[in-house]
Amino acid sequence: MGTCTEPATVLIEARSQIDGGLAYGALETRVYACDEHARTARTEWVRPPLTPFTAIAEPVASHQCGDAVDAH
Ligand SMILES: [Zn+2]
Repeated sequence: MGTCTEPATVLIEARSQIDGGLAYGALETRVYACDEHARTARTEWVRPPLTPFTAIAEPVASHQCGDAVDAH
């Protein structure tokens, strides 16, 4: 996911699509990123057919930028 080791500030959830992407699908992967790489995480680290969603309320303090956690 890159070589950045900054503390994570955002959590991007990669979800599969349902019915053409109009509904939230199953959570597949959580990807953590710093401010600088938040956009990269959404546009490059989460690849189609998965859709990136920014998680608002999840804690990120114990993670580094680039951490990816399989949700299964
Ligand atoms: Zn970063």
